[in-house]
Amino acid sequence: MVKAFLIKYSEIGIKGKNRYIFEDALRSRVAEKLKKCEGDFLVERENGRIYVEAKGEYDYDEVIGHLTKCFGIAHICPVVLVEDKTFENVCRELVAHMKDELGDREFTFKVFAKRSDKRYEMTSPDICREAGAYILDHMPNAAVDVHTPEVSVNVEIRRRACVYVTSIKGPGGMPVGTSGKAMLLLSGGIDSPVAGYMMAKRGVRLEAVYFHAPPYTSDRAKQKVVDLAETVSAYAGEIRLHVVNFTDIQMYIYDQCPHDELTIIMRRYMMKIAERIARETECMSLVTGESVGQVASQTMQSLVVTDAVCTMPVFRPVIAFDKQDIIDIAEKINTFETSILPYEDCCTTFVAKHPVTKPELDQIEKSERKLENKIGEMLEKAVSEREVIAVEK
Ligand code: ATP
Ligand code: MG
Repeated sequence: MVKAFLIKYSEIGIKGKNRYIFEDALRSRVAEKLKKCEGDFLVERENGRIYVEAKGEYDYDEVIGHLTKCFGIAHICPVVLVEDKTFENVCRELVAHMKDELGDREFTFKVFAKRSDKRYEMTSPDICREAGAYILDHMPNAAVDVHTPEVSVNVEIRRRACVYVTSIKGPGGMPVGTSGKAMLLLSGGIDSPVAGYMMAKRGVRLEAVYFHAPPYTSDRAKQKVVDLAETVSAYAGEIRLHVVNFTDIQMYIYDQCPHDELTIIMRRYMMKIAERIARETECMSLVTGESVGQVASQTMQSLVVTDAVCTMPVFRPVIAFDKQDIIDIAEKINTFETSILPYEDCCTTFVAKHPVTKPELDQIEKSERKLENKIGEMLEKAVSEREVIAVEK
């Protein structure tokens, strides 16, 4: 008898001929997560499933904590794998497992049987009936309810028999790394960490860029972004955070351009720099935490003018979310508490009282021509002197 976890996946099961790519990626992501846990584990693929077998001692809560952050997993089921498939032995192991999982509490159940070993001496309906009878004989706290059972008892006859009664919901999504890589513009706010999490959930690997403006923004503000990247990396896997010193560029724009256009012009230069670093790091797109209408720089017009400098697609997964909906996710993924720490942001330091809310591209481009002399060189410098911090939780 071996204790193990059965990892079920849903969406990646429907990828046709490419299915093995997703299965291999999920297997690797699961193995990476388990490396962070105490103990030794064997991760095996068998008939469209992944089994995690623990070799010796391990911490159950720690394993579940990591696996529930591993995208691509629909359910995690603690199972018992039974080598000796004689029906009597399978029933014995099943009841022992049920006592472990359920204790003495009263419960109703229904047996579900699957038989992929067609040479097995019993049919699935036989297994359901006989296993049900065995449970009733050996567990006085059990009663059958075939319509709305509290406990689904699963008996599967495969290479080994596999029995389980518990199913823990996984995070869904797709294994990180199966949908390319994107550059996340990560600020210290609430929205961008959520945007990164959402893209990672669809299988996108992330790099991140943070625009830092010392001494106007402090080391604590930077540390906050590092912490946020780390929290997101619990789901997204390793994130390399590129910290770009934006002070000179920001000051130059402030000196040369109308102050009510500062925010939009700054945002266009952030996008330009992000895109350069994205190219260098083989990212195919940019990701921001913008939500339409949230602030002046996120009106439809501002988004259009911001987008106009980008040649890569810009993905904005929270574009149509209400703030509260974004906060709900931030709370769920544990970024909220960090995001609301009150450190200054480079965008707010110089922001005008009444920034333009309906910028015209022509007008903005005209203002930007005042930067022509030095801005190219400044961009080069900002990109080449960036600091790179790799985080992984
Ligand atoms: P957030 O909560 O993500 O900070 P926000 O509501 O504060 O968003 P803005 O400050 O207008 O909105 O920023 C919009 C988006 O631009 C952010 O979601 C983020 O993707 C990017 N961004 C803003 N400031 C920075 C920065 N200092 N470094 C990196 N990206 C930034
Ligand atoms: Mg912000």
